[in-house]
Amino acid sequence: MTLRKNKIITIDGPSGAGKSTIAKLLASTAGYTYIDSGAIYRGIAYAYKTRKDGGSVEELLRDLPLTFEFGKDTRVSLFGRDISGEIRKPDISLLASSLSQEKPVREYANAVQRSLATGRNAVLEGRDTGSVVFPDADIKIYLDARPHERAHRRYSELASKGSGPGLDIVKQEMEKRDADDSTRALAPLVIPDEAIIVDTTGTDIEGVLKIILAHIKDRDGQKK
Ligand code: C5P
Repeated sequence: MTLRKNKIITIDGPSGAGKSTIAKLLASTAGYTYIDSGAIYRGIAYAYKTRKDGGSVEELLRDLPLTFEFGKDTRVSLFGRDISGEIRKPDISLLASSLSQEKPVREYANAVQRSLATGRNAVLEGRDTGSVVFPDADIKIYLDARPHERAHRRYSELASKGSGPGLDIVKQEMEKRDADDSTRALAPLVIPDEAIIVDTTGTDIEGVLKIILAHIKDRDGQKK
């Protein structure tokens, strides 16, 4: 399969664009390691929120017992305790977005991503995986969808876990997070150079995968 010779594939875009679903599917289709970079920011946010000493984020990161297992599902543990469910809650989404503006937090998250992905075939998803973390990635994808559809997807995802606020709140929080992520000074959400842009509005997951695989094949053909 064409994908085999590409080592790093990055997928960036705003929340609800379908990054996680497509990144997992692409990784399993190609036999690549899947790395969800948002889970790193979420893990830090959870650790910060539950810290006992009220210390700064720099102090927290110095010796943070946070561990990640990026398999079919992402497992995040703090002090050996599984916090994979807790990090998906809306308050952690907002705190992760706010802490992700801080340089030490980004450096920590970048180091984790690079140490996990370097030397292997990996699919990374996030906001800056193709623009900052792996600017020389073999394939860069930017996924987007109309805001209304993105909000609906987030709402359904949270509702399926039984923890969701109403659609209006989900939409407001998503808009705030997208605005903050796109306008921050450090590593804002941008379309990386040479990225393949895919709008997933109204397209199901199989359809999106087909579009992406066709683009990858096309790129591979151009490189030969
Ligand atoms: O993708 P997810 O919604 O899990 O990410 C949570 C937050 O982490 C984002 O809103 C963003 O602020 C931050 N993030 C980031 N850079 C990444 C991935 C996530 O700043 N590469």
